[in-house]
Amino acid sequence: MSQLFPALHTASSQTALRFGDRALSYRELAGAAGRLAARLEPAAPVAVWATPSLETAVGVVAGLLAGVPVVPVNPKSGERELTHIVTDSAPGTVVAEPGAELPGPLASLLRMDVDLSEESTEVADATEAAWFPPAEPAAETAALVVYTSGTTGPPKGVVLSRRALASNLDALEEAWGWTADDVLVHGLPLFHVHGLILGVLGPLRRGGTLRHLGRFTVEGVTREMASGGTMLFGVPTMYHRLADACASDPDLVRALAGARLLVSGSAALPLHDHERLTAATGQRVIERYGMTETLMNTSVLPGGTSRVGTVGVPLRDVDIRIVDDAGRRIPAEDTETVGELEVRGPNLFTEYLNRPDATAEAFDGGWFRTGDMATRDADGSVRLVGRKATDLIKSGGYKIGAGEIENVLLGHPAVAEAAVTGEPDPDLGERVVAWIVPAAGQQPPREEELADLVAGQLAPHKRPRRVRFLEALPRNDMGKVLKRELPGRQD
Ligand code: ATP
Ligand code: MG
Repeated sequence: MSQLFPALHTASSQTALRFGDRALSYRELAGAAGRLAARLEPAAPVAVWATPSLETAVGVVAGLLAGVPVVPVNPKSGERELTHIVTDSAPGTVVAEPGAELPGPLASLLRMDVDLSEESTEVADATEAAWFPPAEPAAETAALVVYTSGTTGPPKGVVLSRRALASNLDALEEAWGWTADDVLVHGLPLFHVHGLILGVLGPLRRGGTLRHLGRFTVEGVTREMASGGTMLFGVPTMYHRLADACASDPDLVRALAGARLLVSGSAALPLHDHERLTAATGQRVIERYGMTETLMNTSVLPGGTSRVGTVGVPLRDVDIRIVDDAGRRIPAEDTETVGELEVRGPNLFTEYLNRPDATAEAFDGGWFRTGDMATRDADGSVRLVGRKATDLIKSGGYKIGAGEIENVLLGHPAVAEAAVTGEPDPDLGERVVAWIVPAAGQQPPREEELADLVAGQLAPHKRPRRVRFLEALPRNDMGKVLKRELPGRQD
């Protein structure tokens, strides 16, 4: 890794980033980010108020050029989260869009607005030494501190090095055949790995282009994919909406059918949505699996053999193993036994910020414990069963994964959303409970009918013992279901 973004040093007039009707070429981005980098306090972390905007991308690139840790902040964070992030990561400066209102906990920081007026992005010569630090920071330097999604507990600050970023983005280049000609389209938030590291830094490392939708809409996807977009990134809730819309929108179908690659991640894409998207567009959505702590671990390979429902094979240089409750490795030939997935490789984070206890606990020798339970198919593809903490139900001596039951329930025409959990049961240890959001305008499904559907397609012990109906499932900003927030649960 010599430079994180070689294309920034080329003075190219190719579009690097476009948000709505505003865009920056590589040359302009080098000018804007270089100027800001030169003003940042050396060594102090910089917080970036991560609205979905060009300014956010410029702020992040500036921090990376200057070699200071960048802390992307979710602008929808509550006061408590913000206070936690500011005290935990101790930034000296906050970078924001001009005019953005910054709440209390950020108000005490030195504020620098990103100025994208023409004078500020003008570069006489992009190789001009003044805009860039004299040497590229060392590979182990902290590049970003990214807070986890907080699906299972309070968000933790994950320190990611330049080495982790570069190696993972290059492994994805290989897996996806990602090039400078790719035009990536997405509407993901810019304060997590998915939207920011893959979705902004990915195209910049390749020398390609990002077109950000600002906010995800079906119309935006149709417009951008029909006019030159080659890749689409999304979370399952977005693909679900696209699958719904395909039923009555031939323009969307055509736009998606023409894509080079449709990629889904951050949570499992239900089988039903996979099937509907393939039936409508002829495309197979590529699932990849990653975490804030590890960046991407596995991906289905375009044209590869992994079956739908798996998250594919390990990326280059990523080692994986699956271990049983006693920490023993489950042999690769065993495709049945569920165990915890552990990961090793240059993609791993450095540490949880200020949490040596949590960091130590997260490792088993040099292996990172993902907290995700999995099996491996005979061809090496990883099949995620769910999270150890919330998705694994121990019932009557069986270990039952919530995901496969959710997949069956989502196949029912009157079910819009489904989540499966375990609750204490005097006989079984835990019993399977299904949380169902009925589809709008339809007769809600009967409890018996849903239980029979599961028992018929899977096995009798996976039958939900109780079905609870809700108006909506609690979800976070990535559309992940927050099982700990289901009514009456307190884990
Ligand atoms: P927290 O760690 O704060 O509870 P989080 O784990 O949701 O939140 P992230 O690091 O953003 O925070 O998410 C990583 C998790 O997302 C993985 O551990 C895995 O459970 C899930 N995940 C990511 N990609 C996929 C996928 N393709 N299929 C299923 N689950 C996925
Ligand atoms: Mg996690």
